[in-house]
Amino acid sequence: KRRIGVMTSGGDAPGMNGCVRAVVRMSIARGCEAYGIYEGYEGLVQGGKLIKQMKWSDVRGWLSEGGTLIGTARCAAFRERPGRLQAAKNLIVHGIDALVICGGDGSLTGADILRDEWQGLLKELVSNKELNQDQVEPFKHLNIVGMVGSIDNDMSLTDATIGCYSSLSRICEMVDVIDSTASSHQRAFVIEVMGRHCGWLALMAGVSTGADFVFMPEKPPSENWEAQMCSLVSKHRKLGKRKTIVIIAEGAQDRSLNKIPPTKVKDLLSNELGLDTRITTLGHVQRGGSPCAYDRQLSTLQGVEAVQAVLDATPETPTPVISVIENKIVRKGLIEAVKATHEVTNAIKAKNFDRAMLLRDAEFVE
Ligand code: ATP
Repeated sequence: KRRIGVMTSGGDAPGMNGCVRAVVRMSIARGCEAYGIYEGYEGLVQGGKLIKQMKWSDVRGWLSEGGTLIGTARCAAFRERPGRLQAAKNLIVHGIDALVICGGDGSLTGADILRDEWQGLLKELVSNKELNQDQVEPFKHLNIVGMVGSIDNDMSLTDATIGCYSSLSRICEMVDVIDSTASSHQRAFVIEVMGRHCGWLALMAGVSTGADFVFMPEKPPSENWEAQMCSLVSKHRKLGKRKTIVIIAEGAQDRSLNKIPPTKVKDLLSNELGLDTRITTLGHVQRGGSPCAYDRQLSTLQGVEAVQAVLDATPETPTPVISVIENKIVRKGLIEAVKATHEVTNAIKAKNFDRAMLLRDAEFVE
C-alpha cells in the first residue's frame, strides 16, 4: 500500500482544508494510505506526533472550514540541508514516498529541492547509520505534487490559486459595507487590501465594486498620478457620486518603485479635495473564514488530480503542479510555474511594467 503525505505550507488560504480532504479521500479510494503532515515543513522536520495517518472520517466537514486545520508554519530549518535530511528520515520512518503540498511558490520550490536531493539524502542517512540499507531500499524516489494555495492569485501558469476567490468575495463584501456608511456621510475611504507583489485582489476588487481608483504593484500610476486621481475623483463627485472608494494593494508603488502609503492618498483627498477621508486596512478578514463555493470545488478537483498525478508518476516525470486553465484542471511543470512567477517579479523590479501586466495576463488594464 502506498503512503501519500499531505501538507499545507506558507500563508494559509481558504480551501486548503478542501485540498487535504480530497487528497485523503482520493488516496483511500485508490487503495493507498494518507498521512497528514502537521504545521507545514516544521512537521516534516520534527516528525513524531506531527505526522499522522488520516482516515476518511478525519476530514469530515472540512470543506466549509477556513484556514488550514493541519496547520502551517514558516520553517527555517527546512531551508538548510540538515533540516531536509531530517525530513527525509521522518518520511522513510513513516513509510511515505509521495508528498502532496498545498502552498505558495516558496513551499513548492522547497519540495522540489527535497525531491532533487532525495537519493543523496538517503545515502547520507545510511552512511550516518541513522537508517540501514534495507530501510531505505524501498524508497528510491520521492514523488512531489504541488497545488497552489494563496489568496493573492500570485502564481503563473494557473488562472486561479486556491483561496483567491474567497478572499476577493470577502473584500467585496467589506467594501459594500463601507460603501453604505461612506455614502451616508459623503466620505472618501482608502481601503488597503493584501497583495505585496501581486495586484490581482486590488484590481479585481476595484472592478467588482466600481472603485474610483486602484493602486497595484505591477502597474504603478502615471508620473502625475496625484493630479490625475484628484481630477477623476472630483469629476465623479460632480456627476453626483456621494462616496469615494480608492483601493490600494499593500505593495502599491510609484514608477520609481517608491511605496505609495495609504496615508499619502488620504492626505491628498483630504487636503486637495476637502473630502472627509478615512483609511480602512482590511487585514486578516481577507484571509480567514469559510471558503466560497469556487474554492471548495477547485480544491476538491485539484486534490483528486494530485493523487492521480502521484499514481501516474514515473521517476522521470518532472514535478507537476496542479493548475486550472480555462476551467480545466491540468498538470503543469512546477519549476516552469515558479520560474514564470519570478519573471513577473523581475519585470516589476526592472520597471518593465507593461511586461509585468502581460505576464499577469492583465495587459487590458488602463
Ligand atoms: P506565501 O505565498 O504565502 O508566502 P510560500 O510557500 O511562498 O507561501 P514561504 O514563506 O516562501 O511561503 O515558504 C514556506 C516555507 O517553505 C518556508 O518557511 C520554508 O520552510 C520552505 N521553503 C521556502 N523556500 C524554500 C527553499 N528555497 N528551499 C527550501 N525550503 C523552502
